[in-house]
Amino acid sequence: MIRRALFPGSFDPFTIGHESIVRRSLDLFDEVIIAVGINSTKTNLFNLDQRVSWINKVFEDTDKVKVASYAGLTVDFCKKVEANFILRGLRTSSDFGFERGIGQVNKALLPEVETVFILSLPEHSAISSTIIRDIIRNGGDASQFVPDAITFKK
Ligand code: ADP
Repeated sequence: MIRRALFPGSFDPFTIGHESIVRRSLDLFDEVIIAVGINSTKTNLFNLDQRVSWINKVFEDTDKVKVASYAGLTVDFCKKVEANFILRGLRTSSDFGFERGIGQVNKALLPEVETVFILSLPEHSAISSTIIRDIIRNGGDASQFVPDAITFKK
């Protein structure tokens, strides 16, 4: 059985925290699909094509990582791409509270898929896409928080 994990998120934008979770998971899984969710209720700073193309660039060095976008339920997309794991990162206890709810409901909806959590490195626990968007909207330099392959136009 191929061990295929889906790493779902908004990735607006993708950060070094996200990258670390994906790279550390490659010892556990044969393939990781980074799935950029299309959520019509969220207003994004970066459009979908931009987010997908940045993530492709970050993982140019490995063919174990694929990038896709999806709308609708994460469990439905898992079925579509035949993923048997959902990968999520945990930074803080508030992440845990949120992730527990989603993970338990996803388990009820699709029992054959297990959610696997990887703890963030301590140095990544304060990094969030929300904070990065805030820095950018206010004209600051957020480059230290994103992979080198991601460059923001001035
Ligand atoms: P969502 O919109 O689903 O919260 P995000 O793009 O914010 O998507 O995050 C996707 C996943 O990455 C989530 O599991 C989140 O907890 C995790 N994550 C976000 N930032 C970090 C970080 N700095 N370190 C480790 N994991 C992170």
